[in-house]
Amino acid sequence: MTRRRHRTTRARACTGKHAHRDRAAALAQIASLRRMDGAVRMAPYRCPYCRHWHVGHLPGSRH
Ligand SMILES: [Zn+2]
Repeated sequence: MTRRRHRTTRARACTGKHAHRDRAAALAQIASLRRMDGAVRMAPYRCPYCRHWHVGHLPGSRH
């Protein structure tokens, strides 16, 4: 049997995500997301692939 590991692939971490040129822009996106759903916890992170900033969920923020 083969099991899929949870790995951070480019498809997951970069492709398809909005790329911000700096952290402030990523934070602005988070602010707008929170306006729609106050419960969502997200954080900006520097992408090692495209060198831009993406927005992702904080680890260990389950409810
Ligand atoms: Zn990226």
